[in-house]
Amino acid sequence: MTKILVVEDDLANANMLERYLTGEGFEVVIAIDGAEALRATASMTPDLVLLDIGLGEEDGRDVLKEIRLISDVPTIFLTGRGLESERIAGLKLGADDYIVKPFSLGEVSARIESVLRRAGANLAQHQIDAPTMRFGDLLINENTHEVHVGGELLELTSKEFALLVFLARSPRQVFSREQLLEHVWESSGEWQNEATVTEHIRRLRAKLETDPDHPRWITTVRGVGYRFEVEAGSS
Ligand code: CA
Repeated sequence: MTKILVVEDDLANANMLERYLTGEGFEVVIAIDGAEALRATASMTPDLVLLDIGLGEEDGRDVLKEIRLISDVPTIFLTGRGLESERIAGLKLGADDYIVKPFSLGEVSARIESVLRRAGANLAQHQIDAPTMRFGDLLINENTHEVHVGGELLELTSKEFALLVFLARSPRQVFSREQLLEHVWESSGEWQNEATVTEHIRRLRAKLETDPDHPRWITTVRGVGYRFEVEAGSS
């Protein structure tokens, strides 16, 4: 269910939006000030925020600055202020759209749908561009073939990269050397010696691991093979 955070100090207005949006099939949470808005953003991870600029003593634009420190959630300003320059300033601060009060409820859902559609398209595009696997400080980007550990780029050969990706795609699953030959080298033991796998694992660990003798990522399962660890390893 799509979750919407409504940030509005005027409870009558907030409740009206909640009733309407709930009826439209959204899950709605109300925050009445900036502190509540930040807590709710962190805890409920909303899909969209409706943020009133007039929050009593607070300015919704300042609240958005703080939200932006922890989240890229699509945000629509509600504003009663008619000045075009203020609206533009708001959009520059990272809002995706704005709705001028008084608004019709139909306009609110139309704006919400449009912003969500745009955000969804961006997200989908982003996922195509950067299919990154992330495990703590280890980042594996299958598109660019880059691997970073703790922000540092590793120089991996294409076989080392393929081996790491294959193992990381099935965390905790143990693969024998024979299976790795078959899947990563697309070869059987008749053509490639299993020592090839051992040697590549050794080289990969030397680049990947802080302490290759006590690997954190690729551990040995004695008598069976290797596996990719998601928790701190011990081997
Ligand atoms: Ca208000």
